[in-house]
Formats: sequence, structure tokens, C-alpha cells
Amino acid sequence: MENRGKHFKDESGIFERESYHVRSIMNQRKRRNELKTKVVLFGTAFVLVAALTVLAFKLAGLNGSNDNNDNVAAAGSPSGSGEEGTGNKQKKKDEKSKDKEQPVKEVSATGQKRWLRDGLDPDKPMVALTFDDGPYTPVTSKILKVLKKYDARATFFVVGSRVPQYEDMVKQAYEQGNEIATHTYNHANLTKLDKKGIKSELDKSKKVIKDVIGCSYSTLRPPGGSINDTMRNVIKVPMIYWSVDTEDWKSRNAKSVLKECKVIQDGDIVLMHDLYPSTADAVKKLVPRLVKEGYQLVTIDELFHYKGIDAKGGKVYMSGR
Ligand SMILES: [Zn+2]
Repeated sequence: MENRGKHFKDESGIFERESYHVRSIMNQRKRRNELKTKVVLFGTAFVLVAALTVLAFKLAGLNGSNDNNDNVAAAGSPSGSGEEGTGNKQKKKDEKSKDKEQPVKEVSATGQKRWLRDGLDPDKPMVALTFDDGPYTPVTSKILKVLKKYDARATFFVVGSRVPQYEDMVKQAYEQGNEIATHTYNHANLTKLDKKGIKSELDKSKKVIKDVIGCSYSTLRPPGGSINDTMRNVIKVPMIYWSVDTEDWKSRNAKSVLKECKVIQDGDIVLMHDLYPSTADAVKKLVPRLVKEGYQLVTIDELFHYKGIDAKGGKVYMSGR
């Protein structure tokens, strides 16, 4: 019995040892399985994080290129129509935006972009119609309609503080290829301001214009036509006077404006204001008349470019002659 008992004990011992062995193998397997699970989980997490990172970069890239288009892209095309999906469509959108930036294709010596079209005939007469003190939708929209109808261009010397309110007019003028220039931010008499004051007027003007059309102005018309040496030193774009004054602000009469325009000749810069309905009425007759007489209606930048005038920052120009 003892032996058997011993044997049993032995067997039992063997059994216990075997049982321990099996348990340790099972434990090892368990640990291995746990490790495998951890590796798989970690791998999945890593792949997920990598995918999310790539996605985030792609999204950031899309947003970036939209920002580069500035507001020009948003202006005419149906924005947010869900076209951003594929690369090709994005490319097409970029090209579209470039078309809209067409008037601004050359950088001047002062670093400002210039408002130019190809295909004008330098041997044919040119005239630059200019409009101060706007924008003002009831008048500006009528003028733009006429300009569009006759494929004519003009320059709008906008008052910066008015731009946010009449943003759509500025956009439309720009998209039709007109030049958006500055008439300061507050219609300020710049001769009464010091350097800092002048710079502030110019910086604020630049910002509001850029916010709407994506680029800045390349010429300035000083309010009241007042100029001094401080302005000549601080202002980095050409200052534009006029050679024909329609006195539209004084007469507020279309017939009278048209009469003043009878003196127009090649190279003239004509002063008007897109604030008065009478001015819009005059433009409606003046533009077809000038086109019929063979004039090319151009922006200030186009006038200088095609007349071979190298307009310099801080200098005053009265015409394209
Ligand atoms: Zn003015």
C-alpha cells in the first residue's frame, strides 16, 4: 500500500509536474496571443493615425490653394458647388481664376501689378475714362453695363471706406477688366497728413481692395488734386490727374457733361464721378460715341503701357501724351 501509495505519490508528482508543464505552455501561448493582439491593435492604430495625417494634409492643401485664389474665385463662379472633389476639377477652377485675374498681368517697377489687356492697337486713338468717389451701386452698375456692352474699360478710383458696402460693384468692375485704383480710404486731403497718416490711408485702401479682388491698386488719384512733397516721397504709385474735367459734380447734368467731352482727343484722361445719375446718363451716350469715332477705351495702366510712358511712383501724370 505504501509503495502503491508512494507510486501514487510519484504518479501524482509526475502528474503535478506534467500539469505544471502544461500550464506553463498554456501561459506562454496566452502571453503570445496577448502580444499578437497588442501588435495587431498597435499596427491598426498606427495605420489609422497615418491615414488621418495624410487626410489632414490634403485638406489643408485644398484650403491653401483656395486661399491663394483669394476672393477672385468666389466672385463670379458658383462657389461651394461641391466641385472641389478631384484634382482635375480643382485645376480647372484654378485656371478659371487665372482668367479673371487677366487684367493684372505685369508687375511695374514699383512692384505693383498693372492692369493690362493684350491686343490693343497703339496706333489707334485711346482715351481713359476715370470715375472718382464711388463705388455707388445705383450709378456704378449703370456705368458698368455700358462699358460691358461696348467692350470698353475704365478706371475706378474708389474711396476705400465705401468698398465693403459696395463690394459687389468692385468685384464686377474688376471682372469686366476695369482698373480698380485708389482715391484714399477716407477721401482724405493727403497734404494735411504727415507721413504716418498718408501711409495709414494707403494701407487701409490696399487692404479693403485686396480683400475684395485679391490684388492691390497700381495708381492713385489724390482727393481734391492736392499734392505736396511728403506725398511725392511716401506714395509709391503714379498719381493721376486728368486732362479733361467734365465737372459732372457741379452741373449734375448729362448734356453738360457730354458738352465738356467734345474736346476729347487721343491720350486724354477724363475726370468723372460715379456718384451722380446724370453721369451714368452721360456715359450711356459718350461711350458709343467714342467707340464710333474709333477710340479704344482703356485703363490708366493700359494708356501708359501702349503710349510708352514709364509711369513712376510718386510722380504726377495728367494724360497719356
Ligand atoms: Zn474725390
